[in-house]
Amino acid sequence: MSAQLIDGNALSQHMRADFATRTQSLITQGVHPGLAVILVGDNPASQVYVRNKVKACEQVGIHSVLEKHPETLSQAELLERVDQLNNDPRIHGILVQLPLPAHIDAHRVIEAISPAKDVDGFHVASAGALMTGLPAYWPCTPHGCMKMLESIGYSLKGKHAVVMGRSNIVGKPMALMLLQHNATVTVCHSATVNLKHHTLQADVIIAAVGKRNVLTADMVKPGAVVIDVGMNRDDAGKLCGDVDFEAVRQVASYITPVPGGVGPMTITMLLANTLDSAQQTLSVKP
Ligand code: NAP
Repeated sequence: MSAQLIDGNALSQHMRADFATRTQSLITQGVHPGLAVILVGDNPASQVYVRNKVKACEQVGIHSVLEKHPETLSQAELLERVDQLNNDPRIHGILVQLPLPAHIDAHRVIEAISPAKDVDGFHVASAGALMTGLPAYWPCTPHGCMKMLESIGYSLKGKHAVVMGRSNIVGKPMALMLLQHNATVTVCHSATVNLKHHTLQADVIIAAVGKRNVLTADMVKPGAVVIDVGMNRDDAGKLCGDVDFEAVRQVASYITPVPGGVGPMTITMLLANTLDSAQQTLSVKP
């Protein structure tokens, strides 16, 4: 058996075509959706990520502002800038690219973003809302994974999902989203004993570890759905995920590739959150 591919590029293009129409409709109603992306320092990976986010905004007509600040920017200066953006009516989403330089407390900065503009979904208010089932901006990467499952018509009800990784931005919110969709969820992490024992029972595996080949074919139940969040480099420097793709695709029923899987979907869900935020301002307009 060779698994069917869940193509994140194709799904993203399909969704973004719809977003372009939504953007035009919002503009017609007097709101031009706007996203501010803040980059501090010159981390090469972060530079690529922010460029891709701004490019995606341009593709659908969302107004974007990319602010590049030197590594030496103080925490107070960054907090002041976030505050200005919180009060800027042209901006509906604020994204501070992580990681931040060591002298800046990322937690403080994220908490300074207005929850109404927290399109990354990292604010504790957003996390708490997700946990309690209230409406909020869901973190883009796990939300993108949910959209990929939805795209194949997969019903999570009664299924066993195993999440590998428990970070605040991927693993934990992923587990909550799966739970909200009635899956039975196991969360594995670096202290999990016998990872294979858990993954072999899974109908759905979400690999979000950040280690190449952490999920091999012998760890996957035949017919399982495998979503690969990982972004690593192989020996040749090529982008790869956490999953031993060629071997696992012989066992799984569906699998996401890297590149071209969760990566583009993460950006797509950022656009979705920004549009939702802009839409929200319409309902509170006098
Ligand atoms: P992270 O904060 O480093 O978290 C990694 C998690 O994996 C931790 O919870 C860690 O456990 C767990 N872990 C480590 N070794 C393990 C093992 N052998 N078995 C099971 N779990 C293990 O990373 P992250 O931010 O969640 O990101 C994970 C990966 O996804 C990275 O490759 C990242 O680049 C990628 N990513 C991709 C996108 C995208 O758009 N495609 C977005 C975000 C992240 P402990 O908690 O015990 O340390």
